[in-house]
Amino acid sequence: MIIAGCGPTGAMLAAELRLHDVRVLVLEKETEPVSFVRIVGLHIRSIELLAMRGLLERVLERGRRRPAGAYFAAIDKPAPEGLDTAHPYLLGIPQPVIVQLLEQHAIALGAQVRRGAAVTAVEQDDAGVTVALADGEQLRAGYLVGCDGGRSTVRKLLGVGFPGEPSRTETLMGEMAVGVPHEEIAAKVAELRETHQRLDIRPFGEGMYRVVIPAVGVGNRAQPPTLDDFQQELRAIAGTDFGVHSPRWLSRFGDATRLAERYRVGRVLLAGDAAHIHPPIGGQGLNLGVQDAFNLGWKLAAQVRGWAPDTLLDTYQDERHPVAADVLDVTRAQMELLSAEPGPRAVRRLLTELMGFDEVNRHLAEKIAAIGIRYDFGAGHDLIGRRLRDIDVKQGRLYGLLRRGRGLLLDRTERLTVGGWADRVDYLGDPTVELDVPCVLLRPDGYVAWIGEDQQDLDGHLSRWFGRPAG
Ligand SMILES: Cc1cc2nc3c(=O)[nH]c(=O)nc-3n(C[C@H](O)[C@H](O)[C@H](O)COP(=O)(O)OP(=O)(O)OC[C@H]3O[C@@H](n4cnc5c(N)ncnc54)[C@H](O)[C@@H]3O)c2cc1C
Repeated sequence: MIIAGCGPTGAMLAAELRLHDVRVLVLEKETEPVSFVRIVGLHIRSIELLAMRGLLERVLERGRRRPAGAYFAAIDKPAPEGLDTAHPYLLGIPQPVIVQLLEQHAIALGAQVRRGAAVTAVEQDDAGVTVALADGEQLRAGYLVGCDGGRSTVRKLLGVGFPGEPSRTETLMGEMAVGVPHEEIAAKVAELRETHQRLDIRPFGEGMYRVVIPAVGVGNRAQPPTLDDFQQELRAIAGTDFGVHSPRWLSRFGDATRLAERYRVGRVLLAGDAAHIHPPIGGQGLNLGVQDAFNLGWKLAAQVRGWAPDTLLDTYQDERHPVAADVLDVTRAQMELLSAEPGPRAVRRLLTELMGFDEVNRHLAEKIAAIGIRYDFGAGHDLIGRRLRDIDVKQGRLYGLLRRGRGLLLDRTERLTVGGWADRVDYLGDPTVELDVPCVLLRPDGYVAWIGEDQQDLDGHLSRWFGRPAG
């Protein structure tokens, strides 16, 4: 298996595949890990995935837990109480740190990461995929996954369409020192944010400030902005540049919004930003990519190991494409709400009022946190197609039992068996489980595949997700 790109998506996918002993080579075009700091927020579902693979403690040590407030279009509302999760917070962590932790995890599980290896050509036939590198070397694998970011070479080589909207606005973002007292900045920013929602200047520790400021026009995205660009934009909007100096890093981002038409062409698949891009408002891109990888990993492993039912790999696109389409819409809506125009500002005031209703606030919070997702597994109990939160079980916590990336049958009746699927699915007979259903079959990604108490019915669903029984 070859993965193009060792960003968060590629690293997570590599680790997931290694849980199933699939040989993995990750090709990364950069020679050094990217040091450019994007502070990302990990939302609840991503935090849960890390907990499921035993990574959460390590990540918590390097990040900062924050209450999940102002999560939608930066509207100043706290997240509702009692979200259905053991992790009701937002985890602030620099992107290079999360990428480093995921890469180390993948390597510890046996993945090989090759840096300075840019994929430049891809050809596939019935038996596999041939990948060419910039230096002309050719590599061969059964499958290739393009996790190579928004400008994905793999997606372009496949000829997969990437429809959507180009960037219309640009925002500068950087970390720098300031030359005026904090009170002066805070007062000016509070005044300006009445009309400029996309402006933000806040202390970032060690005397540094994070400056986010809308830029006039869309510049050359390939070029990082200069301190002079920041000073000019600050003077234009705030009338002063606050004496900014000594930048640690400077960057720009646009609001292009695009979704790949297909996630799979034969033996080549796309995941993460290679499959979808959108502006960072709401902080969902990395979360979405890591969750794509979590959805795809066990399915691709099943395909490689030969036990995947015929349609399993295609459920990756069936499940994840609509989720990305929804995220794109939610970010489009949030971008509108950041506009300084009177119409969007009126809608923002109205939505702020509506978020005072618990049900509205909860709906939006669950959307952003990706815990409201329900995949279409067909009709049935309301839990089917949803993820199960971490609950107490006999051996401790449910997520602790999902570390190996296998399916799990939770059997409160203690009458059922996973029989010939025991090499792929674990069994836990536990009448104490805090669930109001008799038995639950969980997929390796923690989604509920079946609920019931009949062995024959269970066997049908085991076949659907885990293929033929052994022996
Ligand atoms: C300012 C800003 C703030 C953000 N904040 C958040 C946030 O709070 N929460 C959130 O979830 N997301 C956030 N995001 C989005 C997030 O950074 C991206 O969605 C995320 O990096 C996508 O991960 P990825 O692994 O899919 O792609 P990338 O991170 O782009 O990684 C792709 C990798 O592929 C490599 N590559 C590219 N081409 C090739 C090739 N031909 N061959 C081999 N390797 C190749 C690249 O070098 C790179 O390492 C933010 C983005 C920005 C710009």
